[in-house]
Parts: sequence; structure tokens; C-alpha cells
Amino acid sequence: MDKKFWSEKAKRIKPYVAGEQPKFDDIIKLNTNESPFPPSPKAIEAFYNTNAADMRLYPDTNAQIVREAAAFADGVKPENIFVGNGSDDVLAMTFMALFDGEVKTPDVTYSFYTVWASLLGVDLKEIPLNDDLTIPVEKFFGGSCIIANPNAPTGLMLSLEDIEKIAANADGPVVIDEAYVAFGAETAAVLIDKYPNLLVVRTLSKAHGLAGLRMGYAIGCEDLIGALYAVKDSFNSYPTDRAAQNMAAAALYDVEYNKATVERVCRIRDNTAEELRKMGFSVTDSKTNFLFITHPAISAEELMKKLRDKAIIVRRLSNPRTSNYLRMSMGTEEQMERVLAEIRNILEG
Ligand code: PMP
Repeated sequence: MDKKFWSEKAKRIKPYVAGEQPKFDDIIKLNTNESPFPPSPKAIEAFYNTNAADMRLYPDTNAQIVREAAAFADGVKPENIFVGNGSDDVLAMTFMALFDGEVKTPDVTYSFYTVWASLLGVDLKEIPLNDDLTIPVEKFFGGSCIIANPNAPTGLMLSLEDIEKIAANADGPVVIDEAYVAFGAETAAVLIDKYPNLLVVRTLSKAHGLAGLRMGYAIGCEDLIGALYAVKDSFNSYPTDRAAQNMAAAALYDVEYNKATVERVCRIRDNTAEELRKMGFSVTDSKTNFLFITHPAISAEELMKKLRDKAIIVRRLSNPRTSNYLRMSMGTEEQMERVLAEIRNILEG
């Protein structure tokens, strides 16, 4: 590509590389933190009940039924909710709507943050994690920041108290990306009335088993939500479609199904972590639907390759500080049993 007719902006960007979606059969796909379980039957029913003939009409521009459902699920008002096409879309709007100048983030975190920052001219300041991969809370005091809680790919969480300290000591927007919060951390959504600078970002891709739907939302005071809608309406006024809005609303109302699914994933995670520790792995105390693991006797690269030979796909992130770690999403009970058996075989040579 000679990029001859590319804009200067397009020439400058270094796009995010998403985990692969392999096309071959019978794989155990543990590389993009999807749910191993289907979404709520009520969401599936809502899809089939969507009137396809209505697709001639544009969808509700603000996805009001999703705002109401998310407000119900999170105990806030619909005015506190912004809806987007997956949380990546919500986060991109957030970078445009809330960030000027310097914004702090951990040096090991969701790597899309650096992509939006460079695209949009935000000066992302990377704060090194402590040696044990935890977040140095005080270093986030002052200014603006974006923090994934729990953090990805480490899986480690900050307490609600620490998040509150960061929000209280900031003098700009504080964005908490809660993609994995359902798997064991506490949500900061309870603090939005107290901190008008606090924005919480959520996705339906993980706990709700709807990664293919592309639905995410933000929770914040009406003023922050207004900024997000202003940017959205300057970019794409219909980011979510009719079927997706119906499915998302049904999924959000089905609190019981979500709770049971999340508990099941957490049980699988804790059992898998225990078995991996017995095999000599160092495993972070993950509060997510994935484990972040490293072993003294085999490199992450080699283990990843050997697992791939057995049709088990995991992910190694490029950050040099954690390049000897693998991130392994949780599969079903049966899948994880097979994965553990294959790892045992690999370690035994
Ligand atoms: N935030 C974090 C921390 C993530 O790991 C992901 C998933 N890649 C996302 C946001 C984006 O999720 P989605 O766009 O599917 O909502």
C-alpha cells in the first residue's frame, strides 16, 4: 500500500488488532473473552419477535428501550445512560467527548486506549503498574484518567474505595471501563450522583453473552451523558439497530439469568486457576472471565503454539512487561477440563 490518497490522519494511525476469529472447526476459542454460554432465552425471543418489516424505518436514535433497561439493571435513571455500538464505540465517543490534553492510564491495560488517543490527539500518559501488576492508586490522583476495572489483561481489580479516592482527587473526567465488573468487582455506578466527573462504561459482550450483538453503554451524570450524545450525533446518529436494541433490553432485564451465568463462569475460573496453580503456574487473582497466567518452565509463546496445535486458541498481548503471560478466556466446564489435560501433557513433555 502506498497510501497515496490517504488523509494525514489515516496515515498516522496504528489500528487496534482484535483477537482472531478462526474459521476452522472444533476449536476451543479462549482468545477474546467471549462468554462460553448463550445469551438469555428472553433476548433470543426478543430477536425473533423483532418485526423485520419495520427494518424499513430507522431505529430509535437514542435507543431509549436500552437506556430504560440499563437504568433498571443499574439502579439509575435513563437520563444517566448513553448507548453505543459495543463499548468500543462508547469508549471512542468518550475519548472525543471528554478528553483534552493529558489522560492517565496504566501501562498494562486495554490496548485500544492508545489507538483512540493517537487518532484523536489525546496525550495518554502511561502510569507503570506496581511489580505485582496492581494499580498504584495515588499516582492517578489529579487530572483525568481512564482505568479498566477489573483491569485487562491482568484481571486484577481496584476496590470501590480506591475508585472513589481517584474520582474525589481528580480535576477532570475519570472513566472506569467496567467490561468485566460482573465477574467479581464492585461497580462505581453507585457513585455517579456524588461525582459529576465519573463515567462508567459497560458492555453486553461478556457477562450477557452478546459479543456478536455489539451493544455497550455508559453511566454518568446527565451532563457527561449529554456530551456523549452530542458527539454521537455528530458522527453516526443510528449506531445501534432495531433487533439489537430489542435483544439488549431483554437481556438487561433478565437479571436472574445473568447472575446464574456469571456465577457459573466464576466457578469455572476459580477451579481452573486452582488446577493451574497446582501445575506451577503463577495466576493473578482474576475477577474477570479470563485468567492471566505464566509458568517458570515454558515460555508463553511456546505454550500458546503447543495449545494451538491442539486447536486451543489463547492470546498473548504484545506489552513487553507481560509478554511471558497468556490470557485465557474461560470456556465451558468440559472445554476447560480438556484444556487442563492438554496443558498437563505439554508440561510433562
Ligand atoms: N473494554 C475492555 C477492557 C475490553 O477488554 C473489551 C473487549 N475487547 C472492550 C472494552 C470492548 O468490548 P465491546 O466493544 O465488545 O463492548
